[in-house]
Amino acid sequence: MSALILLSTFCFLLPSLSAYPSPPTTPWRRQVDNTILSFNYCPAAPWPTREGYTITSRLPDSDLQAALAEISASNIKSYISDLVSFGTRHTLSTQNSSTTYGIGAARDYITDKMRTFAFASSGRMTVTVPSYTQPADGDRVLFPVRIADIVATLRGSETPDRYYVISGHYDTRCTDPNDYNCLSPGADDDASGVAVSMELARIMATRNPRSTLVFAAVAGEEQNLYGSNFLAQTYKNASVNVAGMFTNDIIGSSTGPDGTEEPHTIRLFAQGLPPAGVESAARAASRLIVGGENDSPARELGRFIVETAQNAYTGMKNIALIYRLDRYLRGGDHLPFLRAGYLSSVRFTEPIEDYRHQHQNVRIDNVTGEQYGDLEEFLDYDFIARVGRVNLAAMWSLSEAPAAPANVSIDATALTNNSTFTWLPGNETGVAGYEVVWRPSVSPYWTHAIPVGLVQRATVQVSKDDVVFGVRAVGTNGYKSPAVFAGFPG
Ligand SMILES: [Zn+2]
Repeated sequence: MSALILLSTFCFLLPSLSAYPSPPTTPWRRQVDNTILSFNYCPAAPWPTREGYTITSRLPDSDLQAALAEISASNIKSYISDLVSFGTRHTLSTQNSSTTYGIGAARDYITDKMRTFAFASSGRMTVTVPSYTQPADGDRVLFPVRIADIVATLRGSETPDRYYVISGHYDTRCTDPNDYNCLSPGADDDASGVAVSMELARIMATRNPRSTLVFAAVAGEEQNLYGSNFLAQTYKNASVNVAGMFTNDIIGSSTGPDGTEEPHTIRLFAQGLPPAGVESAARAASRLIVGGENDSPARELGRFIVETAQNAYTGMKNIALIYRLDRYLRGGDHLPFLRAGYLSSVRFTEPIEDYRHQHQNVRIDNVTGEQYGDLEEFLDYDFIARVGRVNLAAMWSLSEAPAAPANVSIDATALTNNSTFTWLPGNETGVAGYEVVWRPSVSPYWTHAIPVGLVQRATVQVSKDDVVFGVRAVGTNGYKSPAVFAGFPG
C-alpha cells in the first residue's frame, strides 16, 4: 500500500495500476486532464533529495487569457476556404496572370490580409514580401521561379532585437511533386498552418509585445524548403537574433485514418543534437561527455512550450513532445532555421496523419471508393484553433520573458558534491533574478527550480554528477525564459 501511495503522489504520467496489463494505447492517452501538471517523473523524482520548488505548468495571466479567447475557429475556416479557392498553390503555378488562380493569387491574398490586420498596430506591424528567383535545380524546380515569402513583423516594445517566428507554408502539391496544373487544395498541408499565422497576426496587431513577433507564410516548402531557407538565410545575413521558431505544418485534422480521434493532442517535434557543422566539434564532443545530448536549444524550447501552453486555456491537454527532428520520410521549415544556426526551432504537426489526405491528387479510389485529396471536409477547425492557442501562449510567454542567460557553464574544476554555475545576463532590463532548474537525468521535463537571485554565479546543494541542470531568467513581470543547459564546463 505504501508503494501505491508513493506512486500516486509522484507519478502523473503513469497510468493507473489497474490499467495493467491491458494493451498499450498511444502513449499520450496516458496523460491526465489536470489544469496544473507536475513535471515530476516517478522513477527518479524521489531521488536525490529534493532542493527547490516543484515545477508545474504556468497558466496564462489575464492579458494572455484574453488574447487566447480571441482566436476564432470561424476566422480560420474562412482563411483556409479562401486559400483553397485558388485551385492550386503549387510553387511552379502561375505567379501573375490571375487574381483568382495559382500561387501568385494566393500570395497577394495573404499579403492583403496581413496588411489589413497591420492597420490595427499603428505602424508597429509591417508586412513585406521578400523574394528571390530560384533557378531550375534538376529536381523539384523545373524552370526559374520566384519564391516569395509573406512576412508580418510586429516590432517589440522593449527588446525589439529579439525575434520569435511562427510560420506555415502556403504552397501545395499533388501526388507528383512537380505537377503544377493539378487541383491541389492543400487545406491541411498547409493552409492550416498559414491560417494560424494569419489569425495570430490579427490578434497580436492590437497588442504590444516586449519582443518582436513574426507571422510568416512561406512558399517552396514542397520544393526543397526553398522559401523557409530563404527566410532563414535572410535573417542570418542580417544577424537577426531569432530566439525561437515554430513551423505549423499539417495541423488541420484531429482524426486518424482508422477514425481514431485525438482532438486535444498536438505533436511537437524537437531535434536533439544540433545539425552537423552548426555546433563546433569540441562542443559536440563535450556534449557527449557531460550527457547533454537531450538538452539542445530545440529540446529546451519544447519543454518550455509544454510548460506554458499545455493547459485549460489553450484547450490542448497534451503537447506530445517528441525527441526527433521530424517524421520519417518528411522534412519541414524548421530545418533551414536549424541549419542557419537558429537552434530553437521546432515543428507542430497533427496527432495522427491520414496519408490519403495529403500529397494526393483529388480523386475517388477505383478500388476502395475512398476519397483522396487534401480537402476542407477533413479539417477540424476547433482543433486548429487550439493549435493556434498553443502557439500564441508559447510565443507570448517567450516574448514577455527576459532573454535566456548566455554563456551558462558549470564549474567542473574540483571534485565536490555540490554544483556551481556561472552565466552572463542578457543585455536587457526587467530581470528580477535567475533560477537554477534541474531534473533527474531520465526525466523528460525540468522538475525542480531553485531561485538564486539577481546574480551571475550560484552554488546549489545537488550533485552535478546525478542530475541535469539548466539556468533560466525570471522577469520582474513574473515571466520566465526557457532554460539553458548548464552542463558544459566553463
Ligand atoms: Zn507541409
